[in-house]
Amino acid sequence: MIKKDVIVIGAGASGMMCAIECGKRGRSVLVLDHASKIGRKIRISGGGSCNFTNINMSPTNFLSNNPHFCKSAFSRFTPDAFIAILEKHGVKYEEREQGQLFCAKSSEEIIRMLEKESNDAGVNIILNCRIQDVKKEDSFMVSTNHGIFESESLVIATGGASYPQSGASGIGYKIAKQFGLKITELKPGLVPFIFSLEDLKIFGELSGISIDAAIKCNKMEFRGSILFTHKGLSGPAILQISSYWKEGDAIVIDLLPDIDIYGIFIEKQQSKSKIEIHNLLSQYLPSRFAKIWCESNIQSKPVNQYNEKELKGIAHRVNNWVVKPKSTEDFKTAEVTLGGIDTNELSSKTMESRKVKGLYFTGEVIDVTGQLGGYNLHWAWACGFVAGQHA
Ligand SMILES: Cc1cc2nc3c(=O)[nH]c(=O)nc-3n(C[C@H](O)[C@H](O)[C@H](O)COP(=O)(O)OP(=O)(O)OC[C@H]3O[C@@H](n4cnc5c(N)ncnc54)[C@H](O)[C@@H]3O)c2cc1C
Repeated sequence: MIKKDVIVIGAGASGMMCAIECGKRGRSVLVLDHASKIGRKIRISGGGSCNFTNINMSPTNFLSNNPHFCKSAFSRFTPDAFIAILEKHGVKYEEREQGQLFCAKSSEEIIRMLEKESNDAGVNIILNCRIQDVKKEDSFMVSTNHGIFESESLVIATGGASYPQSGASGIGYKIAKQFGLKITELKPGLVPFIFSLEDLKIFGELSGISIDAAIKCNKMEFRGSILFTHKGLSGPAILQISSYWKEGDAIVIDLLPDIDIYGIFIEKQQSKSKIEIHNLLSQYLPSRFAKIWCESNIQSKPVNQYNEKELKGIAHRVNNWVVKPKSTEDFKTAEVTLGGIDTNELSSKTMESRKVKGLYFTGEVIDVTGQLGGYNLHWAWACGFVAGQHA
């Protein structure tokens, strides 16, 4: 049997960061992962360019039953701390909108950087490793298809339940339950919506059309693209609001957030314009959408045939299009998992379980979920770093 100081289960963002930091402290570290490569989600993140952090990071960009839990990790591992590692390895990056930092070339560079760092820190990694059983006697015993491994500390960095095609298995929740830790409700986050049957009939044919909009739900508002799919709605603004949406909620979409459409209606009406409303809206919105939206929302006729009150009502609808999704697309296409290991079970300073000495959790498996924009990977790096100072 091989004995190590630390076993990390999961070679994703948080597991690798934790293993590197433990290794740097002189701890002997073994990382186990059932995938054939490390960092599969890092590889596909940010469309292959990995939106690895956000320079405008604040705890308000995160959802958790305890919004304060993430603060300690973020104070000890900032976006600058991650940038310093990139710069050490000569990885070029660029800032895009809203403080999002991406690799200038490819997410592969971050994976190579983690491989180099872990190698330098003396970390051993076993891939294609299936976890069969985890036990704690005096130390932790992890049974796998590669044999039984023993360690003083065990770090569970197995990610959430989302995007199973990239290795998510939910094993972290199973291990937590086995040791008596509470788990908050799990839900898909950053996930596309599915239209109600009625809306699907009307808008299903708009697949591929995208609109710059502002979306509201449950007191949250996001600005950005919405994209019509063959099932419903996706795009950055939709993914953002999906994390705040609950079954049965409606979302309210401002289709023209930068334009005073009522002012335009009135101007046209006063100039006795005979332009049909849907043609007028086509000047500001994709014309196929404008036509279908008008057919299902208003009676489109020439603008000079409406009175002011009617035009006000139409403008209000344009700025407040109410959509009641049937559901989300679920974990299969969700970028993250909302909920997870109850933060009351863990120390925010070390990520160690309060009940089980030597057992640590890091990353998406914990009930801390970021908005879209590099926040989730930063959480993974930050709590992995913190656990790596203690495990
Ligand atoms: C398509 C997509 C794009 C994304 N883009 C971004 C982005 O640009 N920016 C951003 O901040 N976030 C992004 N995210 C979210 C981000 O990737 C995750 O939040 C982050 O990777 C979580 O890190 P983690 O270390 O907790 O888990 P993961 O990175 O998921 O790592 C978990 C590891 O555990 C392993 N594992 C799981 N089960 C087992 C098991 N039973 N036995 C052994 N090993 C196991 C997995 O193989 C994996 O290697 C994206 C997510 C998706 C799905």
